[in-house]
Amino acid sequence: MKIAIYPGSFDPITKGHLDILKTGAEIFDKVIIAVAKNSEKKGFLTVEERVKVIKESVKDIENVEVDSFEGLTIEYAKKRGAKVLIRGLRAVSDFEYELQLSQANSALSSDIKTVFLTTKPKYNFISSSTIKEIYINHGDISKFVPEPVYEFLKTRNLS
Ligand code: ADP
Repeated sequence: MKIAIYPGSFDPITKGHLDILKTGAEIFDKVIIAVAKNSEKKGFLTVEERVKVIKESVKDIENVEVDSFEGLTIEYAKKRGAKVLIRGLRAVSDFEYELQLSQANSALSSDIKTVFLTTKPKYNFISSSTIKEIYINHGDISKFVPEPVYEFLKTRNLS
């Protein structure tokens, strides 16, 4: 069984992430979307909230599992029996960072490979930080995020 991990902050998950995830689920037998717990970064959503809205957003995709992890991605991948990491590429600007990250990971563990996927052009510009900015300034984010994220953020108090 070919298992892939799609790691990231997903703060919050966007339609761009979801598109990458769907493509991954077509290619691999199972994809684990894994929210990285980063103790240094204070999140917009807590890790638990992110996991909850991701679960609701992917409930119709059979071979996707949602989880969170702490520490090195490669260690988490080994623990889950995965040999592939999925990362998304939007623009050349992503490429440098992503290339470095994938090379660091393969230097740490040569049997874990990174594959890069791209989204449909209409989702390409979407990032979690853009969404936060639009939301904080009372803009409409409904086009950019899965419905459960939209519903969750609607209930939030913007102070
Ligand atoms: P990280 O903090 O690890 O970069 P993100 O949640 O921002 O986590 O992103 C996770 C992955 O999804 C990254 O590989 C990122 O490049 C990719 N990604 C994010 N948004 C998009 C998008 N709109 N199209 C394609 N890939 C994307």
